[in-house]
Amino acid sequence: MTLFELKGQVAIVTGGNGGIGLGMARGLAQAGARLVVAARNKDKGRAAVEELEGLGTEARFCSVDVSDEASVAAMVRTTVDAFGGVDILVNNAGTNIRKQPQEYTLAEWRQVLDTNLTSAFLCSKAAYPLMKKAGRGKIINIGSMMSIFGASFASAYAASKGGMVQFTKALATAWARDNIQVNAVLPGWIDTELTEGARREVPGLHERVLARTPAGRWGVGDDLAGIAVFLAGRASDFVTGTAIPVDGGFSSLG
Ligand code: NDP
Repeated sequence: MTLFELKGQVAIVTGGNGGIGLGMARGLAQAGARLVVAARNKDKGRAAVEELEGLGTEARFCSVDVSDEASVAAMVRTTVDAFGGVDILVNNAGTNIRKQPQEYTLAEWRQVLDTNLTSAFLCSKAAYPLMKKAGRGKIINIGSMMSIFGASFASAYAASKGGMVQFTKALATAWARDNIQVNAVLPGWIDTELTEGARREVPGLHERVLARTPAGRWGVGDDLAGIAVFLAGRASDFVTGTAIPVDGGFSSLG
C-alpha cells in the first residue's frame, strides 16, 4: 500500500451527505476507500452515495442519529454487514444554535453538545473493538476555529469543539498502543449549509471572514479532502493526538 492509498479500506463519515463531510468522503473515495455515508437526510444521503459511486468506489447510505447510542451501534453493524469492518471513522456530524450564552435553554445546550461531542464518544466507542481486533484504525474528529477562539454567539458550539480537541488527545493516548491514530481537523470558514445559516443570522459575518482569512476566500468542502486522505492513510501512522487547522491561514493571523 502506498502512503496515500486507501484501496479496500472501509470508512464511515458521519454527516457525509453534504458540506465538509461529503468533501472528505470524495477524497477518501478517490483514494480507493469504500464509504458509509451516515446521517439523517435520506435524499441527500442517496445523492451523495450516487456521486461517490461515480468516483469508482462502493458506497452505502446509513440512516443514523449520532446522538443516540442504539442508532450508532446499528450504524456500525450495518457497516460491518456491508463491508466487513471499520478502518476509518470520520466524526464530522455537527450542528449549531446561535444565540447569546444566557439565552440557551438546557435542551438547546444539550442538543449541540450531544450532536457535536457526545456523538464522537459514541461512534469512537462503537468502532474501537473492531479497530483493536484489526490491529489498526484511524479516527478523524472535526473541530473548528472555535476549538481555539471564542465567539459571543456560539458558546455551546465552542464548548463542544474545544472538548473535541481534548477528547482527541485522550483517545490518541489511550489507543496508540492499539495502532489507532486519532487526530482532529480544525476547518476555517467553509461555505456549507451550516455557515449559510450563520451568514443569515450574524450581520457582517461574510465580509469579516473574507477580511480575516489570509487566503482571501471562504473554503469549500473539497478543501478538506486532502487532510482526510493524509489522516486516513499510512502516511500518518506516527501522527496522533494533533489538531490540524485547514483554514486558509485564519488561525495564524495575529
Ligand atoms: P452541514 O450542515 O453541511 O453538515 C452537517 C452534517 O451533520 C450534515 O450532513 C447533517 O446531516 C449531519 N448531522 C447533523 N446532526 C446529525 C445527527 N443528529 N445525526 C446524524 N447526522 C447529523 O455543515 P458542515 O459541512 O459545515 O459541517 C460539518 C462539520 O464541520 C460540523 O461538525 C461542523 O461543526 C464542522 N465545521 C464547519 C465549519 C464551516 O465553516 N462550515 C467550520 C468548522 C467546523 P443530516 O441533517 O442529514 O443528519
